[in-house]
Parts: sequence; structure tokens; C-alpha cells
Amino acid sequence: MMENIEFNGKKVLVRVDFNVPLSSTFEITDDNRIKASLPTLNYILEHGGGLILCSHLGRPQQKKLENGDINVNKFTLKHLIPYLSETLKRPVLFVDDCIGQDAINTCKELKSGEVVLLENTRFHIGEEKGDEEMAKTLASLADVYINDAFGTAHRAHASTTLVAHYFASEAKSFGFLMKAEIENAKHILETPEKPFTAIIGGAKVSDKMLLLDKMLDQVDNLIIGGGMAFTFIKAKGGQIGNSLVELDRLDLALQLIDKAKARGVNLLLPIDVLASNKFDNDADKMEVSSDNIPEGWLGLDIGPKAIQSFVSTIKSAKTILWNGPMGVFEMSSFAKGTLAIAESVAEATQHGAYSLVGGGDSVAAVTQVGLSDAVSYVSTGGGALLEMLEGKIIPGVKAITE
Ligand code: AMP
Repeated sequence: MMENIEFNGKKVLVRVDFNVPLSSTFEITDDNRIKASLPTLNYILEHGGGLILCSHLGRPQQKKLENGDINVNKFTLKHLIPYLSETLKRPVLFVDDCIGQDAINTCKELKSGEVVLLENTRFHIGEEKGDEEMAKTLASLADVYINDAFGTAHRAHASTTLVAHYFASEAKSFGFLMKAEIENAKHILETPEKPFTAIIGGAKVSDKMLLLDKMLDQVDNLIIGGGMAFTFIKAKGGQIGNSLVELDRLDLALQLIDKAKARGVNLLLPIDVLASNKFDNDADKMEVSSDNIPEGWLGLDIGPKAIQSFVSTIKSAKTILWNGPMGVFEMSSFAKGTLAIAESVAEATQHGAYSLVGGGDSVAAVTQVGLSDAVSYVSTGGGALLEMLEGKIIPGVKAITE
């Protein structure tokens, strides 16, 4: 626990998730990830610690220049300095190699209340490989290690996991964001009040099969929407036209349907859909039964009857997990189903339900309708949250607790 650590006079290495989107002129276009780390950063500064911030930004190793060099200008964390200085209300020092001699010297001199930002950890190939030497050097910079980067906690990278092994258990902890993420995931898995309804959407069954399987052990109602619903509808013998489908997952869909029956889980698929003759916002559209979509047409949103049935199930829930959109909500013509779900999750929360929204797209949907404060918890993690909900102990969590 952060509260049990004495930060005064200590150098504190904080792994943050500053992987923020930048404009073509390198302005931060969405600062939510930085904002989410501020309670931890301010707490350490207020308690007399010196901050050594480390993070990745993008995928510099995968997007190298033609000559094989890292595209430093595109992926440098330097772009964040003005924002961070203003937000933390003090100068932010920068070193352009997170494990170089300059980092070692600068951190040695770091005083209470000072902040140094280390360059993108992924400039070193050892970060993603989980290199021990890199982890050891990072660890040597500080007295205390705090992990607050939930978004990458499912990766056994040098700065998210291996580095923690070089700190004694009383000198390492989760930050406040990580702690909240873990507690909310645990609440869903361990102490959900019934009825528990999970709403799972998005493109593919294959991305979420472990989650679907695990949820069938937990929930009373499982709502399946989005592109993945068509694999289930096809598996049941429905005509899905040209809708998204994973033909190699039809058996899996049938197994999940059988498991739901065996466990007495109410599995809800969309009764009807809004279909279109092209993957285009302005194409012709029609509402049609989800198992009778004509050839050449594709279901791009759930239909009005599906909305009604999903909403009525959501409203009677006491625990709600939502991951993944109900349709191609990036196009306004196909956003209605997803937005209706966002509103009903908020309404159920207002009436006393606990709701956890996770995964980039469902988070974007609740934000779009201005309801992110109206649900119980909005997760900052995509893959990390999914893995936790699948029941895994993710590496970044294990490295702090073991
Ligand atoms: P995921 O990352 O798996 O949560 O999937 C999100 C993506 O699924 C979004 O980009 C949606 O546009 C897409 N999606 C949702 N419903 C459909 C659908 N019916 N057909 C095609 N794509 C969909």
C-alpha cells in the first residue's frame, strides 16, 4: 500500500502509462491517462519524494524509420514536458535515455519534490523482451518502485514487471490507479451482487472467448452484441447475410450456448439488427430480424427490439460489466444501440447497481454521451482488464504482491 511507504527524501521510480495520443504537431489530444496518474504523483510529491517517471509511448520498435533507426521525434516523451510542468506545477527534468549514464547521474542528484521524466522505455529493445539488465539499471535509480500503469500491467516488460523484483516488498507498491483497477476487477469476480449482467460486444468472438467462458461461471445474464453476435446467430442456423462472422468459431459459439444452458445463464442475442447494404454511414438501411438478413446486407447495429430487451435486462441488474460496443458506433448511423446501452447502464447505476465499464470502445461510448461519471467505475485498461476478468494474475500485479 502506498500509504505504508515513507516517501520523504526517497527517490521514487513510478511506472506510469503516459501512452497518450498526440496530434501531428505533437500536442496531447487526450490527457485522460496522465490525469489518472495524478493522485499518485501528487501524493508522492506532497510526502517529500522525488519523482522518477518512466513510461512507454507508442510502438517505436515496430515503427522504425527506413534506415532501421528509432523515429525519436515521433515517439519521444519530451513532447509531454510542457503539459507535465504545468500540471505538476514545477519544472520537469528530462533525460533522453532511460538507463544511460545521464539518467544515473540525474537521479543521483534528485531532491525531494523534484521530477525527472525518463525517455520512452521502448526505445530499448530490452523493455518489451523483459530484459533483466535493463530492469536492474532502472531499479538502481530509485529507493522505491510504484507501478501505476494498469494499461500495460499484463505485459512482463522490464519497467512494468521485472524491475519490481529488485525492490523489497516494503519498498514497492501499486499506485492509486492500479489499486482501484484491481479492486474493481476483484469486486466483479468475487463479490458481485445478483442479478449480475455482463454485456459483451465488439468485433470478434476470438478476442473475448476466455472472457465469455469465465463470465458464464459468474453471471445471471450474458448479453452478446456487436459483430461477434453473428457468429452465435449463424451457429444457431440463422441467415446473417454478409455480416461479420468467424466461421472457425461456430463450434465454440455452440459450446458457449450449451454452457449457458447447463448453468442456467440467460444468454441474450440481438433479436433484430439495423442492417446496411454497405459498410458506410450513408448507405441504405433497414431493420431486420437478426437471423433473416438478406444476402448482400450486413448487420451494423442492434435493432429496436434488441435494444428494448437488453435495456430491460440491464435495468434490473445489481452488478453490470460492460465491454465492447453493440455496433459500428464510430459511424453515427450505427451508434444508437451502443449509446442506448450506455444510458441504461448509467440509469441502473443511479438506481443502486454497481457498474464497471472497460475496454476502449465502451469507454468512448459512455464518454460520448457524457456519462462516464454516472457509472461506478471506468477502467483505463483494455487487455489488462480482460486478462484480470478472465481470472489471470497478470505479471505487473504478481511482481508487486509476490
Ligand atoms: P473490440 O475492439 O473487439 O471491442 O471491437 C470494437 C470494434 O468492433 C469497433 O471498431 C466496432 O466498429 C466493431 N463492431 C461492432 N459491431 C460490429 C458489427 N456489427 N460489424 C462490424 N464491426 C463491428
